[in-house]
Amino acid sequence: MIYQRSSQLFAEAEKVIPGGVNSPVRAFKAVGGTPIFVKSAKGAYLYDEDGNRLIDYINSWGPMVLGHAYAPVVDAVVAKAQLGTSFGMPTELETQIAALAVSMVPNIDKIRFVNSGTEACMSAIRLARGYTKRDKIIKFAGCYHGHSDSFLIQAGSGAITFGSPNSPGVTEGTAKDTLLARYNDLDNVETLIAANKNEIAAIIVEPVAGNMGCIPPQNGFLEGLRQLCSDNGILLIFDEVMTGFRLAKGGVQELYGIQADIVCFGKVIGGGLPVGAFAARSEIMNHLAPLGPVYQAGTLSGNPLAMAAGLAMLQALNNDAAIFQRLEEKTAYLAAGIDRVLKANNVVFTINRVGSMISVHFDADPVVDFQSAAKGDNATFKKFFHGLLQEGIYIAPSAYETWFITDALTYEDLDVTIQAIDKVSKTF
Ligand code: PMP
Repeated sequence: MIYQRSSQLFAEAEKVIPGGVNSPVRAFKAVGGTPIFVKSAKGAYLYDEDGNRLIDYINSWGPMVLGHAYAPVVDAVVAKAQLGTSFGMPTELETQIAALAVSMVPNIDKIRFVNSGTEACMSAIRLARGYTKRDKIIKFAGCYHGHSDSFLIQAGSGAITFGSPNSPGVTEGTAKDTLLARYNDLDNVETLIAANKNEIAAIIVEPVAGNMGCIPPQNGFLEGLRQLCSDNGILLIFDEVMTGFRLAKGGVQELYGIQADIVCFGKVIGGGLPVGAFAARSEIMNHLAPLGPVYQAGTLSGNPLAMAAGLAMLQALNNDAAIFQRLEEKTAYLAAGIDRVLKANNVVFTINRVGSMISVHFDADPVVDFQSAAKGDNATFKKFFHGLLQEGIYIAPSAYETWFITDALTYEDLDVTIQAIDKVSKTF
């Protein structure tokens, strides 16, 4: 496939946008080459500026769980746009989506909408600090909770891809309140809690990690965190920006039957528009302004177009009980196919998967935390990525990202993908 016009457009973009992109992982810095400029997308496919059709395994980094340009979402946005695009005043729509979200997700009474996953996580820790009157938080190396200062300490996703898990610009004062633990290591968390008695407001975790590739929680890890939090007056924050409304209607809380104190959302909840949200039981949420002293706000929060898209998406997920089962089956089929062809071609790899989140790590050892994720073979990943691109298959341009499977993918698409992986892995 030829990506000539994309290259020209990227050269133009670089003149006026830092690195030519508005979010770093979009650049192909980790894999080389220039990013693909997309013109449109429908269902499982992207159509780029050179006229290529690509099967999409990123899906806007997660939101498009039912495929691109999903008609009920598009229709809802178009209809709302005719009525005005922003008011900064309450609308009935906000209550409708809030009520639906609260009915779908366990253990939450109230939800507040913001404009991104970053804002959701940033607000959640402020709320946790205000509620507990403590300053410190624990986060896990390789987990990504957006680009707010407190989280850019050993962060995952683009922060690892670009080798800057600790960003300049984050002050020492901020960094000292973020304690770092190893994912899937409860002893490590226990030690940190013991060394910071009565100082920790919250533990924030991706309950299925997706920003160092996909890493499932090991048996007992989330249960152990729950117990440690309950025993020590710490709030457990599940960052379900990736997993929420994707792994189950009620996210990881439902999937594994574990109760979080605050839950963060993004991606799917906005149906592809800029939306995030955080939610908890009333006792905690009532600490937020205007009811309580913890301040949090947004000119465009609850924006009618965003809420219309989100509501249409959540309704679709709520009304078709079989969606999550279909996603599970399609992704299991893909995983089995990839496993088969990579083994046949003697490639060293590990596949991690939970539901419709999957990643292929080029390493033989189990990938259970940041350290094990980081030792994957990046040279092989680059060949894999560019080989697939030539076959018209788009995966994330970094080894540290998860693939997001959508219900729009057909078994034929999956077979084409498995065949392409077979072909490409013969060239390693
Ligand atoms: N939390 C998680 C788990 C994420 O994966 C992301 C983004 N990939 C964020 C938070 C930040 O969301 P956003 O990019 O919408 O700010």
